[in-house]
Amino acid sequence: MAETAKILCPEKIVLLPDIEAGCTLADDCPAEEFRIFRESHPDHFVVSYINCTADVKAQSDLICTSSNAVDLINQLPKDLPILFAPDQNLGKWVQRQSKRKLTLWPGRCIVHETFSEEEVLALKLKYPRAEVIAHPECMENLLDLAHYIGSTSKLLKYTSSSTSNQFIVITEPGILYQMRLNNPKKEFIEVPGIDGCSCNACPYMRLNTLEKLFECMKFMKPELVMSKSIIEKALIPIEKMLKMSN
Ligand code: SF4
Repeated sequence: MAETAKILCPEKIVLLPDIEAGCTLADDCPAEEFRIFRESHPDHFVVSYINCTADVKAQSDLICTSSNAVDLINQLPKDLPILFAPDQNLGKWVQRQSKRKLTLWPGRCIVHETFSEEEVLALKLKYPRAEVIAHPECMENLLDLAHYIGSTSKLLKYTSSSTSNQFIVITEPGILYQMRLNNPKKEFIEVPGIDGCSCNACPYMRLNTLEKLFECMKFMKPELVMSKSIIEKALIPIEKMLKMSN
């Protein structure tokens, strides 16, 4: 996200409270390995989820978010072969929604892969009137249990517009804070990781603490520095996404 901010506003200073606050989706798709994979599919149009490195963005034809991925894929010519990276779970969901075969890079989010199907089934028994809502980065067996699937922003909107008063939420639990703020009379139930572990909480997101934010604003560092050529190349597929989203 910090890299995307810098790509869109290269003249501005972009600070990141903890420079190590990355993402497994980005780590799972190293630029050099991706280049080899892409070159082995030379006729493919490359669509990359925004949770990837700037290097991978620079190798892509189009960037998407979890909100607009299906809509963007549906706008592409039906006979165009598509390579989708880096999240294979999101890719499989887009495949099902768009009814198109995609060539998938085998990346995954460690957080969304730790949700337990057994825990969801147990919660459904305990709260039979609750709606199950899930992020498309979850595995297919969990998405099959959901009443509603959507990006973080769509899940937030859905919990406000739905007439249900109880939700079992299968995504990174940080979002429950905002859901509860928006809907103080509704109940939001967190799904634990496998065997009840707390590995459903993203260790990367939690690196950016309030203390580090304070220090970062006070001392104006660490600053994100990126090469001009990567910024220029990565901007092209992001601008294409923005144009196709209008
Ligand atoms: S939850 Fe963490 S690891 Fe997963 S996509 Fe989000 S930032 Fe990346």
